[in-house]
Amino acid sequence: MNVVYEPKGRAREYSELACNLYRGCTHGCRYCYAPSCMRTTGEKWHATAAPRRDVLQNLEKDAIKLRGDSRCILFCFLSDPYQPIERTERLTRQALGIVAKHRLNSQVLTKGCADLIQEDIGLMKDARTQLGITLCFADDSIRSDWEPGASTVDDRMTVLKAAHKEGIFTWVSLEPVIDPDQALTVIRMAHPYVNFWKVGKLNHMKEQEKTVNWGKFLYDAEELFTKFGAKYYIKNDLRSFAMKQ
Ligand code: SF4
Repeated sequence: MNVVYEPKGRAREYSELACNLYRGCTHGCRYCYAPSCMRTTGEKWHATAAPRRDVLQNLEKDAIKLRGDSRCILFCFLSDPYQPIERTERLTRQALGIVAKHRLNSQVLTKGCADLIQEDIGLMKDARTQLGITLCFADDSIRSDWEPGASTVDDRMTVLKAAHKEGIFTWVSLEPVIDPDQALTVIRMAHPYVNFWKVGKLNHMKEQEKTVNWGKFLYDAEELFTKFGAKYYIKNDLRSFAMKQ
């Protein structure tokens, strides 16, 4: 395959297949893992985004090869599919059309432009695309400190509500958890509109990680999920703290 690939490691816990449409991401999240994966600096990766060369043509070729494969293709791990450049390029919209045409399963993971996501909700509904929203903070001032170029908490909630109302399968990526109180507030705030939760801890920021009692957070989060009857998945690196309370 050319642009559809099988993620490895922690990403594999999210999806068996993935496709990155853009190179670079202007959201500029402080915890971003993409620059190290792509062997570049955060400064360069977050400065600009551009369509990957021939990405849609290659996706079409991969989709033909994948016909009949029930695995879900995730857009995107190393860039956001709804960052501002999508307004002019519409790669995500076209990519969803391609996978739908070939009857492949798809999911989106974004913290991007709410208006663009809303415009594609009808397409996602027809294609039975699962919509994943990253939501780690309830307080937008904390969100803007960690994810300066991404959409606001209110915008993400609006999208979740709209998609859920339309019958789209919604999931929240509660990752990376940085502030446990914020994460628990997100669960309380968003659970009526979320079909599935995926929860993972902060990684690669040792000093920040040390400030969190991960065992306690895990206990509190599972207690809330149970209370709300929510379906969820705890990623392995957070799950490993279960015995350390
Ligand atoms: S949305 Fe993802 S790829 Fe973009 S800056 Fe944030 S963590 Fe990095």
